[in-house]
Amino acid sequence: MINSRFGFVAIIGKPNVGKSTLLNRLLKSKVSITSRRPQTTRHRILGILSRDNAQLAFLDTPGISKKNNKLINRHMNRTASHVLKDVDVVLLVTDKFDWDNETIQIFDKIKRTNKVFVWIINKVDKIKKKENLLPFIESVSNTYKFAEVFPVSAFTKHNLDSLINFLCSNVPTGPFHFASEQVTDCSKNFLVIELIREQIVRQLGDEIPYETLVEIDNFSEKSTITEIFANIVVQKKSQKGIVVGTNGDRLKKIGIASRRSLENLLKTQVSLKLWVKVVAAWSQDERVLISNGIAQSEFSFD
Ligand code: GDP
Ligand code: MG
Repeated sequence: MINSRFGFVAIIGKPNVGKSTLLNRLLKSKVSITSRRPQTTRHRILGILSRDNAQLAFLDTPGISKKNNKLINRHMNRTASHVLKDVDVVLLVTDKFDWDNETIQIFDKIKRTNKVFVWIINKVDKIKKKENLLPFIESVSNTYKFAEVFPVSAFTKHNLDSLINFLCSNVPTGPFHFASEQVTDCSKNFLVIELIREQIVRQLGDEIPYETLVEIDNFSEKSTITEIFANIVVQKKSQKGIVVGTNGDRLKKIGIASRRSLENLLKTQVSLKLWVKVVAAWSQDERVLISNGIAQSEFSFD
């Protein structure tokens, strides 16, 4: 007799509502990158949470957004719809009292599928009038049906335990898919790339678009030190100048901050060499997207 439970859980919602932060907090370790800029998450990221009798595999999806129709955005949206096919539970994340047309469109797109839908109202630490929360939940719930609603704060971890308990008892019965100590199925290379990219986005703010790629040229783990050579790929010469900064200042900052978080991830000393390379218009080039995992070579269109 099987008395364990296992389920795939998708985290969806508009960009910037806190999906990646929430995933990191639920897992208590850093697998997904976060920043103030929308849509920094490009790939599906699998984070795994194991309790005694239940295992949850989380997918952090890029925001489903209709605003920008460039090739890269279309691929990100497709990845988001693609991910939804395989999951048991969908967490729809919103920001405080933000229940707007874009969120409704996302929900309308998915509500006919046969999943457990959970509404996560994130960032409640920033809500001043807590008494407005219940009427807000009630008014939305009149029209939109959820199995459960959790007002949470990814920052203060408010209500995250109840959310995890709910998920653990609502995923299907079945054996664990992963070893209990595993927290992600992402490769080390992938995590290294994501950590470097996070620092780029943090350092550059709004100065260049999020169309920056990182590729690993060399990754060698020696006995006491890990050597990493990586390229930051931008699309224009002018962007290269911005990433490098005056006298190389900015690149240096990106390098130092990346090295720190890489040492944290890899638990070794790290020597990191970063170069900036210009590849014209890579975000319009399907092959570059595929080789970097942003696009998948096969799609189901829906
Ligand atoms: P995503 O695009 O949905 O993955 O959003 P991120 O996880 O990257 O978060 C977007 C921004 O919201 C970041 O600046 C986070 O620090 C912030 N944020 C996330 N969760 C919370 C929260 O619970 N409270 C507050 N105040 N800010 C949050
Ligand atoms: Mg994200």
